[in-house]
Amino acid sequence: MAKGNTKGLEELFGSKGSSLDKLKELKERGDRVGGGSSGNYFKLTEGTTEVRILPAINDEDAFYYATAYHYVNNKYVYCRKYLDEDASCPVCSHASKIWKKYKDTGDERIAEEAKSLFAKQQFIYNALVRNQEGDKVVVLQTGKGVKDDLIGVCLDDNYGDITNPVKGRDVGVRRKGKGKATSYQIMVRDRSILAGDENDPKEAAELISAILEKRKVLHELVKYPTEEEAEKEVKKYLDADANGESEDSPTPRKSTITETTEDSDEDKDTFDEIEKQLSAAKKKRGK
Ligand SMILES: [Zn+2]
Repeated sequence: MAKGNTKGLEELFGSKGSSLDKLKELKERGDRVGGGSSGNYFKLTEGTTEVRILPAINDEDAFYYATAYHYVNNKYVYCRKYLDEDASCPVCSHASKIWKKYKDTGDERIAEEAKSLFAKQQFIYNALVRNQEGDKVVVLQTGKGVKDDLIGVCLDDNYGDITNPVKGRDVGVRRKGKGKATSYQIMVRDRSILAGDENDPKEAAELISAILEKRKVLHELVKYPTEEEAEKEVKKYLDADANGESEDSPTPRKSTITETTEDSDEDKDTFDEIEKQLSAAKKKRGK
């Protein structure tokens, strides 16, 4: 990725995007932090959603935050084990107990129950959703498949860091099917600026700044239950004598990149001009 032209941008945002090194590391090591989800995140619905993943607030970070939750009593209960490896998670303990029972009995129904209780990975991002009514900054939540595909795109030299506000790209995410049959497809769009009219770089710079300021500190959104609170949920689950079927939990399948567009250099002058204006906007913003 050419870095020569992004000086103004880095200066302005303190973040040119998201750390690709961090992504590589996470890809190899796997994600090991987490929690669950409140109902406030933006979820992908059936059809195609156009999104722009926003860069990490701290440019040493990846553009997403990895979490894990238990879906129990029809709600998300954050897994305490993902908060801290040494922490005890009553829901994990109960799920393991049930799994053991399955191992002893071979009863597939028991296996299903255990699986429904196990912690599920989840990923959250700051993102801009493109709507007919206008663009909206949201906290997007996805499963592992979409996250892996987005990392794959960023680490692909043909694209580079798609979260860059000036030289990044939107992606279309197509969701098909429901429940366990849900599948996602990522379509990488043309290179574009995050917001504004390319012919009005000054205004574009201000719009970009305004959008980036709306990003949330992702890890602060994740609230873990205390051990007592998690225990209470297990008790409630047992009392209800009903299995908390995770009909709402995202189960992304393998996704594929189906559409690509090559970089064109004809936008380069425009981008350079925008970067100049970004520096100017920074000074103005500081007033
Ligand atoms: Zn747990």
